Amino acid sequence: MGAKYLLPCSCGQSTPVELAQAGETIACACGLKSTAPTMRGLKQLPVIAEARPARKSWGVAQGVALLGGLVTVGGLAVLGWMYVTEPRLDLTSISKELDQMSLLQTWRAWEMFGRGLPGRYPDDFSDQTRAILRGAALREHANYAGLTATAIGLAVLGLGGILQLTSTSRRKP
Ligand SMILES: [Zn+2]
Repeated sequence: MGAKYLLPCSCGQSTPVELAQAGETIACACGLKSTAPTMRGLKQLPVIAEARPARKSWGVAQGVALLGGLVTVGGLAVLGWMYVTEPRLDLTSISKELDQMSLLQTWRAWEMFGRGLPGRYPDDFSDQTRAILRGAALREHANYAGLTATAIGLAVLGLGGILQLTSTSRRKP
């Protein structure tokens, strides 16, 4: 790599010179030889737009990183949505209902609430309470899904970064 500087010749042409060639004797295309200036002198000369080694525009690493990024964003979106839409549970109405149940029913209710499993709920509950319990269970699953997606996404993103690093270091001589 490294920029090239145009060393002018008395013939009117210029010869591209690298910084490493400072002070060396440079032969022009016309055959005349001239001495390249010091590094500082070279830097005063016009620069050739560096022909960049064609960068791989889209590699596996970028694809993996993009995938990881998308999954991460998706997971975070789920978590954000869950946070924003978090219902303010009307605990007073639930506890009032729990008070009216037998001890056994109460225990079953809390066991179910704690486990957070969606599915069948005993008919002991009112429709409202069952809806709340079922909703809480579903939300818990969605939260887990969001967390899992975020974690996997970040891992894939990191993998993409590692691939990127190894591929760039491999490309360098
Ligand atoms: Zn010349």
